[in-house]
Amino acid sequence: MFSRFQHYLSYGSTDQQTVRELSDYFDGLIVPGTIAAFQAEGTRGFVLSLSARSNDPYVIDPRFPLFQNRLGTPKKSHVMLADVLGAPELINRSFAPSPRDFHDGLIKNVASHWIDFNVGFENVQVKTFEKYAARLKEPVLPQDRQDPAFVLPPYTMVDSEGDGWADVSDRLWTASVEYAHAKGVASKLRRVIAASSARTWGRLASKHSDGELVAWISGLDEFRVSSESELVSYGAALRECASRNQRVFALYGGFLSVLFSRHGLSGSSHGIGFGEYRDWVELPTSGAPPARYYVPKLHRYIGVDIAEIIWREFPELIDCECVECSGLSPSDMDYHGLMQHSVRVRAAEIEKWLDMPTPQVIEELERDASDFRLALQRLSAPQKVVRRAEESCAHLTMWARVMSSLDLL
Ligand SMILES: [Zn+2]
Repeated sequence: MFSRFQHYLSYGSTDQQTVRELSDYFDGLIVPGTIAAFQAEGTRGFVLSLSARSNDPYVIDPRFPLFQNRLGTPKKSHVMLADVLGAPELINRSFAPSPRDFHDGLIKNVASHWIDFNVGFENVQVKTFEKYAARLKEPVLPQDRQDPAFVLPPYTMVDSEGDGWADVSDRLWTASVEYAHAKGVASKLRRVIAASSARTWGRLASKHSDGELVAWISGLDEFRVSSESELVSYGAALRECASRNQRVFALYGGFLSVLFSRHGLSGSSHGIGFGEYRDWVELPTSGAPPARYYVPKLHRYIGVDIAEIIWREFPELIDCECVECSGLSPSDMDYHGLMQHSVRVRAAEIEKWLDMPTPQVIEELERDASDFRLALQRLSAPQKVVRRAEESCAHLTMWARVMSSLDLL
């Protein structure tokens, strides 16, 4: 996670086929604690057989900020994660807990259960391992399965430095380190700093001397034009980390996180088809992400319908050279093809953009933005469609400005 530039995927059970087939196109997996707890045996079988085949590292995200919310109607996965943490009382049906509710006994209990869960993750039934190994269609040996590459102790989302949650996070960390020492795994621990703004995140990071940190800034949507100043603050915070020799991996990030590598970001993770940012207050969601087309020149997913309309008149703006696309139009592709295409494109983006000099990055972003703008002015489509298409490319010039601002710092 901390060497340049690590492209991780956040694992969901609907992604198994994509992950299995494309392991050459990403570097590792983030397994959400909720999924690891809920679909326990299947997730182990899948992740461990994959780790035995390709040595791809994986890490389990405790998703602990979940328990800072009131969970009026908790999902089964929430209840099971609380059980894994040895603390069913983490599910608060009637009120949102306060930092004071996290007394020392609870903190110690949660910290030790989580480390035990990570250390014991490689225990899988032979039958389960073999079932998933068979799907890889190449011989893999159970003894080659790997432990999680790192252990991320439970952490909390901090809104402001005085809100008490940073202290809970620090105590979870300290209790985890103590327990991990006793278990001989302290060197695997990596601290997660989660904050609701980039400035708060940067201040929290400056208080710790860890050489490697994991970052989550809640709801930081790199495509929203109004995120501009927040993105500049994020880049500035990353540069400050770099000046302290702190390497930072982002739990959520899209294409912009690839560009932020030049400001010190060592890698990022995203879901397949979605998940380039995440709000810590969970919205009710269900099932797999919608079928959308990842437009290489926009570095984002857009509706297949819109992509198809643009493709018919301006194929050069939409086309992709990856093997999944091979001459197909967006609407000719099936769901699986759309998802695989997006993972392949991200790998190609990293290859192309990681070391590109910043002036050239800015120039290319501006040129792509202007190509789209000109094309959309001539697009024969209803106003509503044109407006939606225009909204899908407004971030390019904003990104160019973000890169310029950071270059001046
Ligand atoms: Zn493609």
